[in-house]
Amino acid sequence: MKILVINAGSSSLKYQLIDMTNESVIAKGLCERIAIDGSVLTHKANGKETVFNNDMPNHEVAIKMVLDALVSPECGVIKSMDEISAVGHRVVHSAEDFTESVLINDEVLAICERNSELAPLHNPANVMGIKACQSVMPNTPMVAVFDTAFHSSMPDYAYLYGIRYDHYKKYKIRKYGFHGTSHMFVSGEAAKYMGKKPEEVKVITCHLGNGSSIAAVDGGKSVDTSMGFTPLEGVPMGTRSGNIDPSVIEYLMQKEGWDIARTIKYLNKECGVLGMSENSSDFRDLMAPGKFDGLNKLAVDAFAYNVKKYVGSYAAVMNGVDCIVFTAGVGENDPYIREKVAGQLSYMGVDFDVDANKNFKRGQICEISKPDSKVKVLVIPTNEELVIARETQRLAK
Ligand code: ADP
Repeated sequence: MKILVINAGSSSLKYQLIDMTNESVIAKGLCERIAIDGSVLTHKANGKETVFNNDMPNHEVAIKMVLDALVSPECGVIKSMDEISAVGHRVVHSAEDFTESVLINDEVLAICERNSELAPLHNPANVMGIKACQSVMPNTPMVAVFDTAFHSSMPDYAYLYGIRYDHYKKYKIRKYGFHGTSHMFVSGEAAKYMGKKPEEVKVITCHLGNGSSIAAVDGGKSVDTSMGFTPLEGVPMGTRSGNIDPSVIEYLMQKEGWDIARTIKYLNKECGVLGMSENSSDFRDLMAPGKFDGLNKLAVDAFAYNVKKYVGSYAAVMNGVDCIVFTAGVGENDPYIREKVAGQLSYMGVDFDVDANKNFKRGQICEISKPDSKVKVLVIPTNEELVIARETQRLAK
């Protein structure tokens, strides 16, 4: 069974074709600048990269180009589209409508569209990707896999904000959490690594990338996570502020003469480590040789400090922890931040291995706590596409 995984953004579309017999990626690629001048499709298969510069006025044309590339005699990997058994779509927000992945029909699509209100930057693009695929592959089953679904197991006292209850009931204002496929994948891998079932372990997963979130996973279920109603809550990120006192918003609007849209853009795009460092949102730039001082260092240290606070609070929430996991761009690659977060948690039972952390091998599971540490600390490469493919296979069978 071959499954096509689609992650559609407003002007981009990432895809992977996965052979589920051995879960190998047989082709993958990226359409960029959809509906913008200079569209480009970069397709990787058979160890070779092919670039197409055709116009992509909309997502439907982009999907057609992807399918053409997949069946092309030059750079293709399948003989016909019929070899694609199902398509799995990443959909960011499920609101309270779905607690797990779901086979897409008209009703499901309408609900995803309605939930665009809660994720205006993501859901409309995800829905566009689904509709484009449906028109090109009308008979292929499609599955929606939500970023929020894994966190639907949070108890009410964890997801409820300290606001008027009628506003939660009326407008569904509550914590939802994101990066669910990643937290689900790495917490499962952590249990497997420890030779346990997911139900037997308490894991704190730190997905640290351009967007970052931390989750408490107790017995295979998410019981709390740092992102909230939107991905703006939690730790400071590449460009997002993370938690701030809401009163800052009114104060800043007055001082700068901004309206609310300008202020929200500021919190999403101009803050985080970019804002604090006055330099870059990319951790590699902040930590480049010779550059890691002054505001660059302050921004990175503030980021790590905030991650560490969540780790401590989630150990409290679960009455202990068996394993702390680092994943995503920063978590998988940056020993400095990992040491800042987990290097001084001996009170919690972590015996951090400074050398193992520095000498970790990229792209594989690495243990960075000492062998007899009560709490294991692991670096685990995430694989959100594989989770989407597995979910799609399960539901499309
Ligand atoms: P996204 O949220 O966009 O999926 P990623 O998980 O790809 O983000 O993470 C992107 C971040 O990871 C960037 O800030 C980048 O600097 C950081 N990163 C990637 N490789 C390294 C590295 N070798 N060392 C430090 N940071 C890295």
